[in-house]
Amino acid sequence: MPKKKIFAIPNVPTPNQPVLFNEDVCTGCNLCVETCQIDVFIPHPQKGKPPIILHPEECWYGGCCVNDCPVPGAIQFNWPLALRGYWKNKETGKVHQI
Ligand code: SF4
Ligand code: SF4
Repeated sequence: MPKKKIFAIPNVPTPNQPVLFNEDVCTGCNLCVETCQIDVFIPHPQKGKPPIILHPEECWYGGCCVNDCPVPGAIQFNWPLALRGYWKNKETGKVHQI
């Protein structure tokens, strides 16, 4: 059977990034790809590289991908500004972001 080439291009009109990968830490195990029920990611064609964010606008920010990643620091949320929470420590005055 002849091999087929499949071309996948990340969404150009809405290039937001619901999560950020740390290329130095991510092992490219693709567990986050399997975990995401919305199929936001696809595996990277190069083994060992972080997945590709193909459908960022579909992310629900539920966090399964971040919570299930077995490698600390490999993936983190990148909340849109409107969804970010802030709180201020009354004693120090320092503003923290969730
Ligand atoms: S972010 Fe975590 S779960 Fe996803 S490929 Fe990298 S190491 Fe695996
Ligand atoms: S937060 Fe949820 S929907 Fe968004 S990429 Fe992670 S698993 Fe998929």
